[in-house]
Amino acid sequence: MQPATIVKTTCQYNKEPISDGDMKKLGEIAVDCNKVRNYVYQRFGGIGALEKLYPGYTVQNEMTQCGLREQLGLPSVYFNLAVFDALADIKCQWVKIKSDIATQIGRNTTLSAEEKHYLRFLLKINNAFTAVLNRRQVVLRADLQKSYEQLANAVDMAKMERYLCRQARKYHRKLYSEEVTGFSISERAYRYEDHGIYLTIKEKRKRIFVPLTDNCRYKRQLYIKLLPEKKSLEIKVPIDVRVKKHSDYTKQVGIALGMYTMFVTDEGHSYGEQFGEYQTHYADWVREQTAVYNRNRESGTERKKYYAKKHRMEEQLHSYINMEINRFLRTEKPEIIYLPKLPPTQASGKVREINYSVSMWQRGYIRKRLILKCTEQSVKVVEVLGKGIGSECSRCSKTGKKKQGIFYCPTCGLQIEEKRNTAQNVKKRGIISS
Ligand SMILES: [Zn+2]
Repeated sequence: MQPATIVKTTCQYNKEPISDGDMKKLGEIAVDCNKVRNYVYQRFGGIGALEKLYPGYTVQNEMTQCGLREQLGLPSVYFNLAVFDALADIKCQWVKIKSDIATQIGRNTTLSAEEKHYLRFLLKINNAFTAVLNRRQVVLRADLQKSYEQLANAVDMAKMERYLCRQARKYHRKLYSEEVTGFSISERAYRYEDHGIYLTIKEKRKRIFVPLTDNCRYKRQLYIKLLPEKKSLEIKVPIDVRVKKHSDYTKQVGIALGMYTMFVTDEGHSYGEQFGEYQTHYADWVREQTAVYNRNRESGTERKKYYAKKHRMEEQLHSYINMEINRFLRTEKPEIIYLPKLPPTQASGKVREINYSVSMWQRGYIRKRLILKCTEQSVKVVEVLGKGIGSECSRCSKTGKKKQGIFYCPTCGLQIEEKRNTAQNVKKRGIISS
């Protein structure tokens, strides 16, 4: 099932420079929120606090009573959100730890099947996991307790529990946030009005007004990113984008990605044919500039100019890529697309061409944008193992030869555009595997 909406981040910007005084006040909030986060991490991030994490109100209560908010003089709209965010990070870390341990268990060849069963049970049942990590007896709901005991009786419990504790300690990291350049803000701490936004600050009943470049109004948690050196801020807004569903998108399309043409379909249609030109132009320019830079170490302002131009060129390239992906979807109307998996990145020693790294990076970008746009339009993306996919004949599966962009099969005589042959193989493999 495709999700009905996906979350994207959009940005809002200040219209006029922010005064140093206002920036300082906003900076204080960022610093304080960060202190709250780190306090929560320290107090509730450890193994000993595991049992307080679910359902979570223990943490909220203890934090309300601990006096930190009063000490900082931070409005509770900020304080509570910082606590909530930090708690979410801690829970998220535990999910990650459990999944890392599960992977380890799966790979471990010395554990017996019974031992793996038992360990997986402990990972799955929160209360059991917490009890074992804190060296307490496991006490569960009657039905769970019964299956727990059955599994436990089949193994050396003490040994298994030591194993689990060791693994947890191995993956557990002390959380710490250095993020003092911004803060989260809930709906109750801001108000859009007068072509701008009013933000609650630490002074009672006072607000800072920031005129904005647009008149959009959002009703959700925002993130305020401060850019003091630019006298600016960015408001990051997560927005739900409704996923479009096209009833006329019915085709299954295999595609091959290329260095010169962005992609070719199994029917031989090409998209992004000028991609190679854009890319070569861009890569040549980067190489030239690097050479110049290495010869006479330019001044800072020239370097700035370089980055500005590099950024502009990159944006041009990206806008071309996006335009072509849109054209591809509009024209092909795919229900499913099959796409070769990205090969693992090679060790840098093997990279001969200087353009290589640039092209690899853009390929990552193309892939990311293609997958995002497909998700937005309810088009399913299936990734296919790509090993040897370019040298196989799409008609008879035997190995063929490639020369100047043409694939030729000596076994069945097929002669076809190389990328189209690959795309057909991608589609074939994709349909078989799904
Ligand atoms: Zn053949």
